[in-house]
Amino acid sequence: LETTLALLKPDLFADHQTLCNIEQRIAHLFRISARRKVIWTTGDAQRFYAEHQGKPFYPRLISYMTSGPILALALTKHGAIQEWREMIGSTRPAQMRIERPTTLRAQFGLTDTRNSFHGSDSVASAERELEFFFGKKLPN
Ligand code: ATP
Repeated sequence: LETTLALLKPDLFADHQTLCNIEQRIAHLFRISARRKVIWTTGDAQRFYAEHQGKPFYPRLISYMTSGPILALALTKHGAIQEWREMIGSTRPAQMRIERPTTLRAQFGLTDTRNSFHGSDSVASAERELEFFFGKKLPN
């Protein structure tokens, strides 16, 4: 079994029903082994996204991710990392609406920055990111 970190980003909190529906879709396909709603400080966002510091979209990314709550979910199943990334699609919602319209970013994403979801991209980043939200004791 594998566990990945999924984030439902602040734009999704604009509509409670949409957020609930998305979480139900997720729960149908993955075991949600941990769940936490957080509001990030600027420092939290800068730590999580340290690798993007200096990129043109970085200031936008930090202000977006601190603009409201985030729902962090630990998703467990065989191949969870890849399956969750396929379910959300790649970074750009407008491109996804053309190429993969059934992905979550195609359906809910607003802009390249405000793209509604995050998924860990490897076993190593899943470990780091799960620890960031849930501490040392990884859910399984
Ligand atoms: P991947 O791990 O495949 O790169 P990702 O979509 O999670 O996928 P990152 O590159 O980790 O993207 O970037 C983190 C976040 O920063 C994105 O989800 C998006 O919110 C924002 N972002 C990334 N690239 C851009 C960009 N070119 N323009 C605007 N915002 C961006």
